[in-house]
Amino acid sequence: MVGPLIMQFGTEAQKRRFLPRILSGDEVWCQGYSEPNAGSDLASLRSSAVDDGRGSFVVNGQKTWTTYGQYADWIFCLVRTDASGKKQQGISFLLVDMKTPGVTVKPMLTIGGTPAFCETFFEDVVVPKENLVGPLHGGWTVAKALLGHERTMIGGVGASLRALRRLKRIARETTRAGAPLLDDPMVAAKIARLEVRLRSLEMANYRTLAAAALGHAPGPESSILKIRGSEIQQDCFELAMEIMGHDALSWHDTAGAVPALETWVPSTYCYNRATTIYGGSNEIQKNIIAKLILGLS
Ligand SMILES: Cc1cc2nc3c(=O)[nH]c(=O)nc-3n(C[C@H](O)[C@H](O)[C@H](O)COP(=O)(O)OP(=O)(O)OC[C@H]3O[C@@H](n4cnc5c(N)ncnc54)[C@H](O)[C@@H]3O)c2cc1C
Repeated sequence: MVGPLIMQFGTEAQKRRFLPRILSGDEVWCQGYSEPNAGSDLASLRSSAVDDGRGSFVVNGQKTWTTYGQYADWIFCLVRTDASGKKQQGISFLLVDMKTPGVTVKPMLTIGGTPAFCETFFEDVVVPKENLVGPLHGGWTVAKALLGHERTMIGGVGASLRALRRLKRIARETTRAGAPLLDDPMVAAKIARLEVRLRSLEMANYRTLAAAALGHAPGPESSILKIRGSEIQQDCFELAMEIMGHDALSWHDTAGAVPALETWVPSTYCYNRATTIYGGSNEIQKNIIAKLILGLS
């Protein structure tokens, strides 16, 4: 997600420094947007970056829900650089090396049993000014542009197509009275309904890709992809759980043994509760659609 942002808003030096290693995967990034009291109301964030007068910012504060922060080399952060005006106007977009003294990461366990996200603390973290992306106090525009890419990605058409293939395999391999559940008209109809919704989303996604190919960054329409895609991801796994019946009570084997059953289903089902929350909750996406697409105030 940060790659397109550096391409759009970064300096030539930032592009040279960061883009090759983003592309190769040699450097892993995490996202420092949310804070304990700034989630949906992101502009209320309080982590601060103060100019030290010697070419650097000094960052203090806390981020939360930092996905895979414990593995990341870099974090892109929204920080407050001015508290005097409208809250959206005093935010800047800063790239922070996770190895900088004063950065502490505390992983948290999800209901799916994985340490997928962290709390990230900043205590007098010195960040060179050349790590500022976009104008000083102008980070809100950068942040919104990044969210357009993130929400398009969360739409997750590829992941849902894969989940649907697995769902059909489970329905084929699970039998009732000697017959595969895939042959049960009720089950087949539920899968077909899901597939129709997913194919419609795929077509909508192609429109975004076609616009991207013409150089247009995703706008508020990414909220539509995010809502529909996140709901489909949840529905795929809900149906898989239903089809598996009591087999769905098995759990991911943390010892690493090859699972005999589809044990990835219950853990992904639990994790996917989050798809309608992360990247901005679906309720917030509906607010965006109402305001920016339908023109309602
Ligand atoms: C698995 C997971 C991974 C995440 N990864 C990251 C990450 O890597 N980096 C990062 O910065 N953040 C991350 N997040 C945080 C995520 O962006 C926030 O959880 C999300 O924006 C919601 O904020 P909140 O949790 O503070 O909920 P709140 O803002 O407290 O919202 C609580 C509820 O109130 C509703 N609500 C709030 N305001 C309104 C409104 N105006 N209108 C209608 N309904 C409203 C919300 O929809 C929600 O249902 C992650 C979250 C999850 C669950």
